[in-house]
This record gives sequence, structure tokens and C-alpha cells, in this order.
Amino acid sequence: MSRIRSKDTKPEMVVRKLAHAMGYRYRIHRKDLPGKPDLVFGPRRKVVFVHGCFWHQHDLEHCLDGRRPKSNTSYWSPKLQRNVDRDVDHVTALKAAGWQVLIVWECET
Ligand SMILES: [Zn+2]
Repeated sequence: MSRIRSKDTKPEMVVRKLAHAMGYRYRIHRKDLPGKPDLVFGPRRKVVFVHGCFWHQHDLEHCLDGRRPKSNTSYWSPKLQRNVDRDVDHVTALKAAGWQVLIVWECET
């Protein structure tokens, strides 16, 4: 279980460097926006979330890291489902406020 970390910032750094290289100005973790998006491109009204595949349950069709643990399911299932539900709420709120939302998955970085 060593690859399961609550905060894995490495994929986030990859995306930040990419955005920077493309000349985009952004802010990080704006606390005034739902879900504190990892990158916020204010003038473009775009936000980017960099999601860990396990914690945010990446679609199993695309990524095996989204698998739920087979042991201790009574602990993990509700916990991971809460993350997924929260993500949906954040995206819905952002879109309603006129933001475009991009999700970058850890396995894609
Ligand atoms: Zn993935």
C-alpha cells in the first residue's frame, strides 16, 4: 500500500510546469473556489484539477489505479465514494458559476 498517499503533489507539478511552459498565468489552490482547484486561469475562466487515480476513483475503463481495495471495504468504500461525490459537487458548482473545468488524472501526467 506504499503507493497510496493522501497528498501526492508530483503529478500536480507536471501540470504546473506544462502550463507555465505554455505561457499561461495561473494561481494555485484558490480557496474561494469550490474544491480549491489545483490551477486557476482566472481571465480564461478555466480551472484544472489534478486528481490522484486512487483517491478520486479514476474510471476503471481507463485506469486500474481506480480500483477499490478488496480488503476493509466497509472502511474504504464510503470514504472513496465521499471523495467522488464531493468532486461532482465541486465541478457542478464551478460550471454553474461559469468556469470551464478540466480534470487531469495522475496516470495521464
Ligand atoms: Zn488513472
